[in-house]
Amino acid sequence: MNSDSSYDDEPVYYCKRCLSLNIRQMPCVKNQDYCGECGTTDIGTASIEEWKEMYKKKYGHDFIVKRELKWPYWC
Ligand SMILES: [Zn+2]
Repeated sequence: MNSDSSYDDEPVYYCKRCLSLNIRQMPCVKNQDYCGECGTTDIGTASIEEWKEMYKKKYGHDFIVKRELKWPYWC
């Protein structure tokens, strides 16, 4: 067991087309994930660090969590 490893070591599922992490499970179809942003089923896995690198190369900047857009939802 490696229970004290950081989340950085956890693999993430990402969309190979738009690099979104908004990956969902298709209902009724086993082991079929799809991108919640663009709908493709072309899903890959990578470490969060690898994904950040890919994101930066594609979009030219780091991934930014827009927290201010989310806060109204938990009111
Ligand atoms: Zn996508």
